[in-house]
Amino acid sequence: RIAYLDRTVHETDSEPKPNGDVSAISKSIDLQGSFETGDKTTIASKDFGGLYSTKPLALIKPAGSDDISRFIKAASRIPRMTVAARGNGHSINGQAMTNGGLVIDMRSTEENHFRLLNINGSFFIDVSGGALWENVLTRCVSRFGLAPRSWTDYLSLTVGGTLSNAGVSGQAFRYGPQISNVTELEIVTGKGDITVCSETRNPKLFFGSLGGLGQFGIITRARVKLQPAPDMVRWIRVVYTEFDEFTRDAEFLVSRDDGESFDYVEGFVFCNNDDPVNGWPAVPLDPVHGFNPGIIPQTGASVVYCLEVAFHYQKGDHPSTVDKAVAGLLKRLRFVEGLKSQVDLSYVEFLLRVKRAEEQAKANGIWDAPHPWLNLFISKSNIVEFDQTVFKKMVKDGIGGPMLIYPLMRSKWDNRTSVALPDSEIFYLVALLRFVSRGPSVEESVAQNREIVEWCIKEGLDFKLYLPHYQSKEEWKLHFGNQWTRFVERKASFDPMAILAPGQNIFKRTH
Ligand code: FAD
Repeated sequence: RIAYLDRTVHETDSEPKPNGDVSAISKSIDLQGSFETGDKTTIASKDFGGLYSTKPLALIKPAGSDDISRFIKAASRIPRMTVAARGNGHSINGQAMTNGGLVIDMRSTEENHFRLLNINGSFFIDVSGGALWENVLTRCVSRFGLAPRSWTDYLSLTVGGTLSNAGVSGQAFRYGPQISNVTELEIVTGKGDITVCSETRNPKLFFGSLGGLGQFGIITRARVKLQPAPDMVRWIRVVYTEFDEFTRDAEFLVSRDDGESFDYVEGFVFCNNDDPVNGWPAVPLDPVHGFNPGIIPQTGASVVYCLEVAFHYQKGDHPSTVDKAVAGLLKRLRFVEGLKSQVDLSYVEFLLRVKRAEEQAKANGIWDAPHPWLNLFISKSNIVEFDQTVFKKMVKDGIGGPMLIYPLMRSKWDNRTSVALPDSEIFYLVALLRFVSRGPSVEESVAQNREIVEWCIKEGLDFKLYLPHYQSKEEWKLHFGNQWTRFVERKASFDPMAILAPGQNIFKRTH
């Protein structure tokens, strides 16, 4: 049930809660970190979505993997006790919560493990599962001039939180999602075992945990691939009125070899009106030099499209070299002439671009409003019908936040991970990032999300939910399709009592 709608808590609230004495447990396990109970756990009953709320028994701030392991083992001895790792609580549907169980605040471990490695000439960084990507970025760039290759748009997310899903942004077409860019994990399993795993060492746990929705273990350390960080980025937006031209160009860019395309490719849909959030004013990167209204095509279409790309370069590169390389790439594209906007900024500023939007949204009071987001992966073969029905009709008046759409390449994902994907080589990420205070109400937004998903099912679209959320096991079975058996087997191997990540609502601890 949705807390915001009926001001009650999660449906499991009516069920008997586990009965544990946290002080006694922490003494018995010689806890090195600390814990909070009562009102001090409030943060653990909230998330970015603002739709669900359940109260834990305690919020544990572990010092490291040993604390986590001992708490999980202690939880296994208490009937119905569950344990939820909380990264930065940026889930939408209560995925990092537990009703009456133990929430492990992974942020308390964020300084652990930080170490640069040079393995046969390639660089890697070991980081805590509780580290924020923004800190990984700034530390790697300032100390070593190196950076991870694949990102999310927004970086106040933890390493363990995004690796439990996938972690996608405009670099994923080239390097794959973040889960394709880690080579080793340390995981505390649902049995409390502290296990190091990789492609060759405990591969079932390694691949299972990547995109595994926290079901098999808590990621306490990740080894992330690095590459030299560029100094600068040219960030460019170009506008299309025709969907087929937009997708043709986006697919062209993501299918080219390294060195023959931009370094980042995303896109979004916007309303063909002057709405400040979803309309033309939201498109130019540099608001001072907005588009001249005279050149905006009067097509009468409800929505238009924007391709967003970025080009990396070094400070020492001659401006004409950068201009020439960018012009060479842009000349192959069919955007509307004159509808181009660009800015040059440092690589770190570019990657922290959503942080600035966050600061503004916090100042306007909309950051803390509910966010009934919907994220989907949709096969290339169905994206035209999706545009015609969803973008051009259902959400044509805007949603109070960005509407993203960009292509990804399946060959950059590893089938051995737990993520469920559409079948085709090219599929699109579609994200409806709603901010309720600026758009339709929570009820309308949730109903519209449901309507969109039901329409996709009814029309037989080849699609999957990203950051999935379902109410029943039947729906989870459908989501995983022929990977369901493997997912269940992995659960039986690593968390047989279903102690971990109860907020995902996939498996339930019953005794
Ligand atoms: P939480 O919400 O705290 O946890 C998520 C789930 O993972 C929970 O089930 C939790 O129990 C589990 N978990 C947390 N830590 C661990 C761990 N160490 N080990 C095992 N399980 C763990 N996603 C993208 O892919 N690309 C984007 O560009 C992107 N942008 C976003 C922008 C914003 C503003 C927001 C709010 C979200 C965005 N996301 C994006 C989604 C985001 O990746 C997920 O919501 C992610 O789970 C959030 O990370 P978190 O650290 O807050 O995790």
